[in-house]
Amino acid sequence: MKILFIGDGQLGQMLGASAISHGHECLLFSTRSNTVKPLSAQIDLQLSLTDAIAWADLVSWEHEDIPADILAAAHDKFLMDPARIKSLTDRRAEKKLFDDCRVPTSPWQTYNNADELEKILSKAEQPMVLKAARGGYDGKGQWRFRMVDNPSELAQQAGQAPGIAEHMIPFHREVSLVGARSKDGSICCYPLITNVHDRGILSYSLGAIDVVDERLQSVAEDCFRKLTDALHYVGVLAIEFFVVGEGDDAQLLVNEIAPRVHNSGHWTMTGANSSQFDLHIRALTGMPLPLLRLEPTLMINVIGADQIPAGLWHHADTDCHWYNKEPRPGRKVGHVNIRTANRDTAMTWVAQWAEKLQVLAD
Ligand code: ATP
Ligand code: MG
Ligand code: MG
Repeated sequence: MKILFIGDGQLGQMLGASAISHGHECLLFSTRSNTVKPLSAQIDLQLSLTDAIAWADLVSWEHEDIPADILAAAHDKFLMDPARIKSLTDRRAEKKLFDDCRVPTSPWQTYNNADELEKILSKAEQPMVLKAARGGYDGKGQWRFRMVDNPSELAQQAGQAPGIAEHMIPFHREVSLVGARSKDGSICCYPLITNVHDRGILSYSLGAIDVVDERLQSVAEDCFRKLTDALHYVGVLAIEFFVVGEGDDAQLLVNEIAPRVHNSGHWTMTGANSSQFDLHIRALTGMPLPLLRLEPTLMINVIGADQIPAGLWHHADTDCHWYNKEPRPGRKVGHVNIRTANRDTAMTWVAQWAEKLQVLAD
């Protein structure tokens, strides 16, 4: 099949590589330069977007902010309603989807301006997290309100654009569910992944390392089914959860969803017989979803560093991925997957490498 992916960043590149390994052809459309590109080439094809859409059997995306001209021109090349997916780039629509699907999420309110936000904060009885409705990623476009903060001052900063104010959740840990839904409604999910963030950005993920908590796994898969059914979704989707409480009392609250492949699923390139990129391609092209075979894998993000040290490239237990991007503090420029026997070994790797691989913005 011929697949056109919207976006030519690392996710688009990794999707494209998987598509090619499954015998498909693919092009990437850069929404930054408005050009059509073959996989991993820096040169631009002299192919217009209209030609690329006509060429493609299918259009998919690495990011859900699908340009309006593609929404209009490629409508029949998507496997689901792309406008519905694009609407989820607004946190208000995303949170409403959670409420409509009755999946538990942090209580929330919307605000349109600083005055409305100030009223919300003045009445707040617990700390709040404020998130701009649009454009936030890696913790950008977020503010924290603690009970000692001045509502009016913070409202002036955070209320410049519409957003949501939600309860700050005292979570025990954060996990994500990455899975695929195919056209016939069958689903295939990896076990819950434990994610650790530093200053709002994903630092590392533990894939198939912790013993699966069957109860939480089934709650998470139930959320996945409800959300993907509601969207008539085809392909890979990730759900980020807060785990509140521990052991038998642990509950999951949905933080946000990513209707696409996700950074917390990168460990599957090493730790699964079928990576998240493979699952996405299989779901898109109507191939059956596989039975998963998994190996415990740690994924450490490379953030802002100018290279991955040679010792990691050479190590027998690692797979290094460099995205060919200009390093800047806080920018994801690669990731390292590490085969680990267990959680203790994983944490030893984290202690040794996370700081060296990560230059975060203040
Ligand atoms: P991503 O890069 O994952 O898309 P994002 O910028 O969309 O990130 P969120 O996932 O909403 O932002 O938040 C980033 C991190 O901030 C979360 O992973 C979590 O650690 C923290 N956080 C967000 N919302 C809350 C909340 N309501 N309570 C406590 N912590 C929160
Ligand atoms: Mg997000
Ligand atoms: Mg997030």
